[in-house]
Amino acid sequence: MRSMGASGEAAVAGSPPHAGKSFWLQDYGAYQPNADLARDLYCDVLVIGGGIAGLSAAWHAAKSSSGRVVLIESEVIGFGASGRAAGWIMPQFGMDQVAIRKTYGDERAKAAFAYCLRAMNYTRETIAAQGLDSDYRHPGLMRVAFDDRWIGELEALHAMLEDFGVPDLRWLEGAEVQAAFAGNRNFRAASLDPNLGLLNPLKHVRSLKKLAASAGVEIFENTPALHLERRTGGVHVATPRGSVRASKLVVATNAFTHLLEGPLGREMRHLQSPVFARGAVTERLSPQQWSEIGWERGNAIESTLDLFHYMAPTRDGRIQFYWIYHGGHSRFGEMEPAASAEGAAASLDHLKRIFPRLRGVRLAHHWGGHMSGTCDLVPHLTTLGDDRVIYIGGCWGHGLAMSLLHGQTVADMLNDTRSELTDFWIVNRKPKPWPVRPFDHLGKGFHWHRLKRKALRRMAGSIFDDARPRGRGEQG
Ligand SMILES: Cc1cc2nc3c(=O)[nH]c(=O)nc-3n(C[C@H](O)[C@H](O)[C@H](O)COP(=O)(O)OP(=O)(O)OC[C@H]3O[C@@H](n4cnc5c(N)ncnc54)[C@H](O)[C@@H]3O)c2cc1C
Repeated sequence: MRSMGASGEAAVAGSPPHAGKSFWLQDYGAYQPNADLARDLYCDVLVIGGGIAGLSAAWHAAKSSSGRVVLIESEVIGFGASGRAAGWIMPQFGMDQVAIRKTYGDERAKAAFAYCLRAMNYTRETIAAQGLDSDYRHPGLMRVAFDDRWIGELEALHAMLEDFGVPDLRWLEGAEVQAAFAGNRNFRAASLDPNLGLLNPLKHVRSLKKLAASAGVEIFENTPALHLERRTGGVHVATPRGSVRASKLVVATNAFTHLLEGPLGREMRHLQSPVFARGAVTERLSPQQWSEIGWERGNAIESTLDLFHYMAPTRDGRIQFYWIYHGGHSRFGEMEPAASAEGAAASLDHLKRIFPRLRGVRLAHHWGGHMSGTCDLVPHLTTLGDDRVIYIGGCWGHGLAMSLLHGQTVADMLNDTRSELTDFWIVNRKPKPWPVRPFDHLGKGFHWHRLKRKALRRMAGSIFDDARPRGRGEQG
């Protein structure tokens, strides 16, 4: 039986704890978390946070002989963004490549892209080499213009990505892209980028848990770090039923970092700020529905309309889609945003306008999750104060691949080894803090408002305009 939880997500009676937090968490089935920490202990490296960043850092630290490695997670592995993400493994850096190039110049933007491309390949290789159960496939990404007036902008983006060195991009004119979608004339032109894989992020992060454990990492779930402070020779972290003294600490708490307490926790209060994204999946489509819409390649689709359309097929025959337009930025102190029914309905409506043949399709689940936003748009990977503390964060909506590679970079940092990875320009770069409240929220709100107005203006007269009849140009 399906019911709506307090936050509005669809939850299923008798389903696993946290099932309402994402489709992946609901769909995972039975999961046995590790015991919480119920004693005091000492270790060489303590990692806080059981997402991809924390587990990868712990796994790489354990593999590289950094001594005894312990990881604590406040809820269950995959509770945060890693268990709620879309699962797109792509070489995207920070908030967006165009803004990074404009702000940081060509050389740094190219180095960032190279790091992210390496991260994508590393994810793929690790899954294959370690036999991770991540449901990985590699169908690529189509950036699509759903309106003739958007083609010019898409061409400019395509040219910029080519100039940037994105390998094997291909431009698809209307007829070619329409042929890939059963003649659907809503697809006006596309840029096909083969550099994207899709996976189930929750299965991926829980496979990483097994990998880390097999390398000797001790993992405690339902163990929140309550109070963090520096002590002579290391750090001290208090949890509800035990404490950890460690020589080195890796903080991988992503969008929750501003909530950390104690003198050390408070140092991190303004380094990042949560920004929300929403996700949804439809019910399973029938084989007939799939054949009516084409999409045999099974690629991800991103429209040129920022904030609105990101979609891909799931392994089990649904369409997953993501948006940040509705409820895309947090209210004061809100960490578990109510899932936006209005946003889910509007996004489903857009999906049906793109694919009028799916007019009867229903939503199965929708949810919200937190990305970690940085004031200067750049992800963080740095020691704080001295080399006892390493902080990873601020990947915006593109941290799945990068966080895995960050783990290797962190291991080099822990072992004081200079490498190509530690030479990457974001490593040990001083994060620019967000302004204090309420100015951070006012600034974010203003920026959001501008982006939304731009998106609304561009929708006028397109298939997404409420004033237009639907289904323009659909095949048949
Ligand atoms: C809806 C959505 C869609 C996204 N889609 C994509 C995508 O398609 N591709 C992509 O690359 N990226 C995507 N992202 C971003 C990506 O999910 C993140 O960048 C990535 O998962 C970050 O991993 P992490 O380990 O840093 O953080 P998280 O996965 O958030 O892990 C942090 C962990 O720390 C724990 N924690 C917090 N406080 C404490 C404490 N005090 N003590 C102990 N533990 C604590 C949390 O419970 C959490 O499990 C998406 C994000 C969202 C929200």
